[in-house]
Amino acid sequence: MTTALQATRLQDRLSSELTRLKDAGLFISPRVLEAPQRARTRILGREVVNLASNNYLGFADHPFVKERAAAYLHAWGAGAGAVRTIAGTLQIHEDFEAQLAAFKHTGSALVLQSGFTTNQGVLGSLLQDGDLVLSDELNHASIIDGLRLSKATKKVFKHKDLNDLRRLLQEHPTSGLKLVITDGVFSMDGDIAPLGEMVKVAREFGAVTYVDDAHGSGVLGEQGRGTVHHFGLQHAEDVIQVGTLSKAWGVVGGYAAGHQDLRELLINKARPFLFSTGHPPAVVGALSAAIELVQQDSSFIERLWDNTRYFKRELQTLGFDIFGSETPITPVIFGEAPAAFEASRLLLERGIFAVGLGFPTVPKGLARIRNIVTAEHTRDDLDTALSAYAEVGRQLGVIGG
Ligand code: PMP
Repeated sequence: MTTALQATRLQDRLSSELTRLKDAGLFISPRVLEAPQRARTRILGREVVNLASNNYLGFADHPFVKERAAAYLHAWGAGAGAVRTIAGTLQIHEDFEAQLAAFKHTGSALVLQSGFTTNQGVLGSLLQDGDLVLSDELNHASIIDGLRLSKATKKVFKHKDLNDLRRLLQEHPTSGLKLVITDGVFSMDGDIAPLGEMVKVAREFGAVTYVDDAHGSGVLGEQGRGTVHHFGLQHAEDVIQVGTLSKAWGVVGGYAAGHQDLRELLINKARPFLFSTGHPPAVVGALSAAIELVQQDSSFIERLWDNTRYFKRELQTLGFDIFGSETPITPVIFGEAPAAFEASRLLLERGIFAVGLGFPTVPKGLARIRNIVTAEHTRDDLDTALSAYAEVGRQLGVIGG
C-alpha cells in the first residue's frame, strides 16, 4: 500500500514536470545519429550533412585517434579502477597531462571528467568567502553552476563590456581574490572574448582572469593552442585556462592549465576529481593522439578556417544575418523560436542537420540555427547546405529573392 502510494507520488511528479516543460516549449527530444559522428552522418534513415556537432577537427572518428584508443585499451584495460586520488591514477594519465601542459605552454595541467565538472571543480576549490567574481553575462552554464558552489560575491558584467567590468570592479573593492571569468569563444554567438584588453582591466584592479576555452581550444592560436595563446597570454601567471577535451579534441574530458600549485590544489580539493573515477585508458589514448595529430599536420586547422570563411561569406551573400560570429560557430538568425525550429525541420527535410535554438538558451527575438563548420566538411557538403539554406530562407521570408 505504502509502496503504491510512493509510486503514485513519483509518477505525479514526473508527469507534472514533463507537462510543465512541454507547456513552456522547453521539452527536448534528442535526434539520434544512426552512423558515427562525421561531417556526413545518418538521421531518420537518410544521409545528412552534419552542421550540429562540436567535432571541429573531425577527430571524433579519426583512424589515428581510434587506433591509439584501441592500443591503450588493450595495453591498459577498460577502466581506471578507482578515483584518481586513491588508486586510479595510471602512468598514462600523468603522461597525457604533461603532454597537454607542454602543448598549452603552461607549467602544468590537470584533466577532469568533463568541461562541466572542471568548472565546478576549479571554481569550487579556488574561491572563498570574501572573494569577488565578475562573470560575463553569456558565460556557459557550467560556470554559473560552478559559481553556485562558492561563497564569493558574484557580479555579472554585460557581454564583453569592459566599461561595465571596470565599473563593477570599482564598486566592489575587496581584499579577497578577484576573478574575472569569461568564455574564450562564446558558444551561441561564436564571438571571441576581448582577452587582451580584459586582462589589462583585470590587472588594473589586481584581478586574475579565468578563461573557459571550450570552443577556442583546437580552433584558435598557433596549432590550436587556444584563445589564451591567440592573445599571446600563455605565459601570464595571472591567467587560468580551463576547457574541454570533447569538442575539437573529439573525445571527452576537461582540463585546467596553469601553475603547478593550481594542479596540486585541484588534486586536493576539486570534488569531481576526488570523488569520481578518472578517464578510462581508451579516452586517454585517443586524446594523446588528437593533440599529437594537430601538431603533426597543420591542414586540419587550415581546412577548418577555409571552410569557416567560405560558409560565412556565402551565407552573408545570400542575405543571412550571422550575428558577427568570428569563429566556426555560425549562428543564422531567424527571429522568434518557432521560425528557427521550423527552419531546422525544413533543413532536415533537405538533408541538413542543424539545430534551432530559442529563448531561454538565446535572447528573445534572436532565435537561430547554430551551425558548426568542421575541417571534415567538403566544399560539396557546404554547397549542399547553402542551397538548402537559400530555399528555406526564402520560404520563411528571412532572405529576399
Ligand atoms: N564550457 C563551455 C563554454 C562549453 O561550451 C561547454 C560544452 N557545452 C562546456 C564548458 C562543457 O564541456 P563538456 O561537454 O566537456 O562537459
